[in-house]
Amino acid sequence: MIWFQASGCDYNTRLNHRRCLALKLATCMYNSELRLAVVQADSALLPATCPGWSPEVDSMLQVIDRCDQYLPALRELVQQSAPDLWVELDSVELVSPIPRPRQNVMCLGWNYMDHVEETTRKMVEAPKLPKYPVVFTKAVSSMNGPYADIPVNHAVSDKMDWEVELGVIIGRGGQGIRREQALQHVFGYTVINDVSARDLQKRHRQFFLGKSLSGSCPMGPWIVTRDEIPDPQALDLESRVNGQVKQDSNTRHQIFDIATVIETLSRGMRLEPGDIIATGTPSGVGYVRTPPEYLQPGDVVECEIESIGTIRNTVTAA
Ligand code: MG
Repeated sequence: MIWFQASGCDYNTRLNHRRCLALKLATCMYNSELRLAVVQADSALLPATCPGWSPEVDSMLQVIDRCDQYLPALRELVQQSAPDLWVELDSVELVSPIPRPRQNVMCLGWNYMDHVEETTRKMVEAPKLPKYPVVFTKAVSSMNGPYADIPVNHAVSDKMDWEVELGVIIGRGGQGIRREQALQHVFGYTVINDVSARDLQKRHRQFFLGKSLSGSCPMGPWIVTRDEIPDPQALDLESRVNGQVKQDSNTRHQIFDIATVIETLSRGMRLEPGDIIATGTPSGVGYVRTPPEYLQPGDVVECEIESIGTIRNTVTAA
């Protein structure tokens, strides 16, 4: 197998330094095939179509599995690639950066103080401030693209809600990861909308079914590699429905920070490369509003996180 040989980066200019470090990695449909893509501004580079890159290395999970080898090689490829190898970003269809994760998305519940407070006001059985992280999962089959439709079937649920969340992608796996080393196990960061069927969550007592409806995990538009986000606990995040701001917070308000979450999850369970962690949502969700608000066909939901990007999904009747 051939692949692009990394030979170090050119740090002579600020621009080169930034291009060397920054990588936005996406998965896209191009000519009816799923491809790995590197995104810069309005352009995309498809490594498998580039001279010197092995065409067999064409998926996000392959890159994550051998990130020590492939990330430097991708950076080199970006720097060396001729302009005519880049395609217009509009000419590809971005799908979920990891279209089919190997296991469920691990999610934090009640991980922002203000969200605990708004929930407390609404519920009869009020949740207390969690002493330990509250963890549930979303099914692999709920994965959805950054600009894809969110199907809503009112015969199944008429209480679909939004939740903007910082997504953490694990790079190097491990068990018993210590807090101090935890962020070194992160591959990168992304934006997740933890779409939630509140009626199902309540009716079935456990979160799983209400969090796992088809299409209820829009993610993307890409994964920003860890080195581009020096402090993941200082990112503004916002959700909007039909242009109206619903959630507006910062990851500094998380009750359990990312390092603590990784330490907790890995204490007795092995985290694997490509695992996805949705780190919880701030206040401003629909079901605690007066009157409550739920997603309706035609609504456009946007979730945006500073330094990463925006996902935008239209709700459609299923
Ligand atoms: Mg959530």
